[in-house]
Amino acid sequence: MNSLWVGLLANMAVVSLVISLWSNIRLPIFGQKRSVQEWAFGSLFGLGAIGVMLMPFQLGAGFFIDLRMTMIGTAAFIGGPVAGLVTAFIAAAFRLYLGGAGAAVGLVGIVFACAAGIVGWHLKVREAPTVKASVLFSLVMAISAMAPGFVYALYQEIDTGPQIRLPYMTLVFVATLMACVALGNEIRRRETEARNHMYRHVIDSLPEALNVKDREGRFIMANPATAILMQAENADTLIGKTDFDFFRQDVAVAFRADEDKALKAGTPIVEEQMLTRMDGNRAYLSTLKAPFTDIDGNIIGLITHSRDTTDKKLLEAALAQSDRRAAEALSSISDGLVMFDKDLTLVFCNERYRAMFSATADLRVPGTPAAAILYASIARGELAGIAQDQVTTWVDTALARLKQGGTVQFPLADGRWIESRTRPTPEGACFVICSDITASKQHELELQNLNDRLSVLAETDSLTGLLNRRAFDAVMEEELARVESGEGSLALLMIDVDYFKRFNDTYGHGAGDSCLKAVADCLRAAARRTGDRAARYGGEEMALILPDTDEAAAVTIAEEFCDRLRGLRIPHSESDKGIVTVSIGVATLGRGSVPTDAVRLIVRADEALYVAKRDGRDGVRVWEPSRPRIVHSDSGRS
Ligand code: GH3
Ligand code: MG
Ligand code: MG
Repeated sequence: MNSLWVGLLANMAVVSLVISLWSNIRLPIFGQKRSVQEWAFGSLFGLGAIGVMLMPFQLGAGFFIDLRMTMIGTAAFIGGPVAGLVTAFIAAAFRLYLGGAGAAVGLVGIVFACAAGIVGWHLKVREAPTVKASVLFSLVMAISAMAPGFVYALYQEIDTGPQIRLPYMTLVFVATLMACVALGNEIRRRETEARNHMYRHVIDSLPEALNVKDREGRFIMANPATAILMQAENADTLIGKTDFDFFRQDVAVAFRADEDKALKAGTPIVEEQMLTRMDGNRAYLSTLKAPFTDIDGNIIGLITHSRDTTDKKLLEAALAQSDRRAAEALSSISDGLVMFDKDLTLVFCNERYRAMFSATADLRVPGTPAAAILYASIARGELAGIAQDQVTTWVDTALARLKQGGTVQFPLADGRWIESRTRPTPEGACFVICSDITASKQHELELQNLNDRLSVLAETDSLTGLLNRRAFDAVMEEELARVESGEGSLALLMIDVDYFKRFNDTYGHGAGDSCLKAVADCLRAAARRTGDRAARYGGEEMALILPDTDEAAAVTIAEEFCDRLRGLRIPHSESDKGIVTVSIGVATLGRGSVPTDAVRLIVRADEALYVAKRDGRDGVRVWEPSRPRIVHSDSGRS
């Protein structure tokens, strides 16, 4: 009995030694990959199995009891199938080497323990077993350790009464439980260590300052970012020191006040801190201070997390300043500015824009759709000259322009003119600049009037108000080109006042001018159709251009003109008629005329006029290829 306990306790010592070796000696093998670790673990426990087999309690010839079941089972249960099999193999090899009567039974026990361990390894969920799982597994080991051996013992008639069975099972149970719990704790410790290592790594590589201080404000822990923030050499130099060792007195006092506040509050607080460094530079921090408690919940210090927001603060300040400047600039410019988003809803406008459209200023605010503004502007009579049935089309066109961009000028009902320049943005929004162009529009209109008057003057004869010679030439050029291109015909009348030199001589130059005006008035009356043009050809010679007029019609017009002038009965004592008369030459160009005819039209009309003069004046003559023929004479001759 005594020797049984001694043997089993010696076995226990070996188990403890193996666990202790694995737990405490940091072999380089622990850093290796998993399969290597499994082999190492299995081998160590295999050596342990040899150890316990060397210190057995012998029950009979070749029949020993020892704690090999604990070694093999635990190796498989904790280390997995590979480790379990390695241990089992080493143990089996040694058992065979030892030989003896119980060798076969010993092997069965070894296989049994290994199998039980592998099954247990699969059943436990986590790598480190719970105490409950360990107890269950130890019970299985204790019971199964007895089974094959004692069947054999019974067969061999070796005494294995309760006085042997109970201590053996108890020891297997205790040794297995101890091994499982110790190894489980070791695994957990290593997991915690790995996690801590990871946390430490995360904290050290944080770009933001993270540190822990005690209640007196002394650093207990700090990461490298804290050292950078404090402008300290490294994180270790901070330990045991306070803010007063690194900051100006006033800054440190303010920081300490924040810490006191967090300690009193007992809950995390967030502070925006501003500090002036020793070198005079300013910095801004966004800081979180959270109370740090011990296991009993007593506050023993503060965890501080600080982010340097200096760059952000400076950027914000710069942005705010540029925003302010932009707003000032926008409100002070003389143009109206408005921006619509891609749905054509007003998103921004300046005061000038709202003042420009005062009748709808209440609607010209962010959030109003452009369509609503335009309809209101028309309904309230702000926009001028849009017919009732054109409103929808007008608004649709205006909205389309906002999408496409472009420049447009439009009048307001109060007489002002606005020019709007629209620029679409790549995002589909648009930006519109509205300028009051009333003054320049007025100048433009005045200039237009002036130009119109000038161009009238440039082509008008000042005495008679007829077209002048220059205008006559231009009209003739157009008309000849028209006829040449095959469009219609043309008639030309050349008119000359008879004995006008004598008239001047008799009545004076002033009376001559008045006479010419009267003749011109008669001629104007003869030019009845829109295309007819009367001109002063030169001196007392005038012309009448009659588009699309044939010879007969031209002669009729000429005769009517003569009659009208005669009807005025302007006295001319030096003419045999006693009144002012004219002679007229007519030439025409019909359809399909050859170009030479066109060039010669004026010459022909002149030739016909010459004939009229020669034939006694106060008559109309038509040009003829052979010779001009008489178509009319006054009542005295025919
Ligand atoms: P004829 O019947 O052959 O045409 O005789 P005429 O005297 O009319 O012919 P002539 O060409 O010799 O004289 C034309 C005169 O017309 C000469 C000029 O003094 C006068 N005359 C030309 N232009 C003007 C004008 O603008 N005002 C006035 N008062 N006389 C003008
Ligand atoms: Mg003349
Ligand atoms: Mg004349």
